[in-house]
Amino acid sequence: MNYDYIIVGAGIGGLSAGLNLAFNKKKVLILEKNSLPGGIVTTIKKGRFEFDTSLYDLLDYGSEEHIGSLQRIFKKFGLDIDTISIPYNIRIKSLDEKFDEVMKGDIDDWILRLEELYSGSMSTFRSLLPVLKEIDEALNLLKKGKKDSLKDFPNFIKYLDKNAYEALVDLNLPTETIHVLGYLWIEIGSPLNKLSFIDFAEFMYKYIFKRPVALANKNIDFTLKLVNRFQELGGKIYYRSWVKEIRNLGEKQEVVLEDGTSYQAKEVICNLPERYVIKNLIKEDYPFLNQKENARTLSMNGLVVYLGLNKSYQDLKLYNYRYYEFQNLNSMTNMKSMKEFYHHTIEAIVPNIVNEKASPKNTTILVLKTLYNDAPWNKINASNYYQIKNDLAKSLIEEFELAFNIDIKEYIEEMVVATPFTFKKFTNRSNGSIFGPMRLGYDNSINRLISYKEEGIPHLSFVGEASIFGGGLDNAIYSGYYITEQLLKEERRND
Ligand SMILES: Cc1cc2nc3c(=O)[nH]c(=O)nc-3n(C[C@H](O)[C@H](O)[C@H](O)COP(=O)(O)OP(=O)(O)OC[C@H]3O[C@@H](n4cnc5c(N)ncnc54)[C@H](O)[C@@H]3O)c2cc1C
Repeated sequence: MNYDYIIVGAGIGGLSAGLNLAFNKKKVLILEKNSLPGGIVTTIKKGRFEFDTSLYDLLDYGSEEHIGSLQRIFKKFGLDIDTISIPYNIRIKSLDEKFDEVMKGDIDDWILRLEELYSGSMSTFRSLLPVLKEIDEALNLLKKGKKDSLKDFPNFIKYLDKNAYEALVDLNLPTETIHVLGYLWIEIGSPLNKLSFIDFAEFMYKYIFKRPVALANKNIDFTLKLVNRFQELGGKIYYRSWVKEIRNLGEKQEVVLEDGTSYQAKEVICNLPERYVIKNLIKEDYPFLNQKENARTLSMNGLVVYLGLNKSYQDLKLYNYRYYEFQNLNSMTNMKSMKEFYHHTIEAIVPNIVNEKASPKNTTILVLKTLYNDAPWNKINASNYYQIKNDLAKSLIEEFELAFNIDIKEYIEEMVVATPFTFKKFTNRSNGSIFGPMRLGYDNSINRLISYKEEGIPHLSFVGEASIFGGGLDNAIYSGYYITEQLLKEERRND
């Protein structure tokens, strides 16, 4: 059977690419190695708990009044996604600097509080907001290929080559305020001095102006909904289909599964990291791709502990949606301590705060996450894996209890622990990284956006977090849409 497009991987990026192509009446086949769609966005059932593995904050979805890009895309496909707006309710604690604050209310409340703490925050933060907006507008033009209009965006030009730390200093934000804002770095996976200001500004803009949402239903319900719509639009999806090779036959591309079955299409779209595709799936050598891949840095990997607690969040005194604990707030120095297995950087999420249906009545789900900057997992082997995994999970729980003075251990009814090996096995990411390749230094999304066509493999494109826009659901979904829009435009030009 011949297809117009074959997509390798039914992660969220692959699904969004499939939806757009099927919506445009293309013959599309998605090949997925697992038995379920969604990749890292899935749901694990244990006892009476259903743990969502990801998707606690969906950015760029927006509200009814301020529709974000994702909402617009889903609506175009005829999809209504039930979402719940997430109130800012974040407790941030830094051990070294004795910083312990709850960021609540709206952005003006934050600004007021920051001004009380660090004089000068209010005026500088307020002057940062239009800069964020300007950068978002300039990026949107760039996505539409309108490079010439960028001259009308002086801040975009000014900060194009600056990292987030340099730019925020240049904008005169007090150093302490920069570090507090920098707590967001952990979501993006890069310390402020390595992160391009443009990427930081884009993230901040979405975070502040389009407000994150949570899904009203489970991860798996969401991904199955996308699959159902894809199938209604005529798309085909085969599960348990592990792609082992992609062959360039000139006019056609052939995708071969591990059992030898093959399918052909004009174009192949990979919902996988380029690194994995170059090493494992294609035979041709593309030196420029190796160079590009060598310049790419994978984001941190992590340990995630999903806990089902047999008490309500009110009784447990888990009052905040998100908790962050840092050794110190300075992302640049904090990052260094994360080379060790045992460090003091934790992120915790209590989904019940925004969604009463997250777990059965009078129970709570608590998700604890800690990230690692590189090395320690390389030292693990089959003989010490389970011991280390259990020790780390235990220490993460104790660290959280100690940091926030909340007892949880005795209320644990169910527990699931995911290590970088779990994520690696499930999705084929090489180090089990949480957010794919980081947008660092030269490898920022502007350069990726400008160069992806020239530096590509003929008839092969990439979507998902390893694509142009980086990690996170919003970027993975958007990349699926954006890349297929470009392919469709090219098709129309060639017709
Ligand atoms: C614990 C955790 C929490 C997170 N929380 C959030 C959050 O709150 N908000 C947010 O925006 N982001 C969050 N993220 C990040 C987000 O989940 C990812 O950025 C996003 O899901 C990546 O999607 P993707 O489509 O790029 O890739 P993946 O999910 O990696 O999908 C790739 C797919 O390809 C399949 N595949 C791989 N190799 C093959 C092969 N050879 N043949 C066939 N199929 C193959 C895999 O099975 C998988 O289904 C979180 C991530 C983690 C780990």
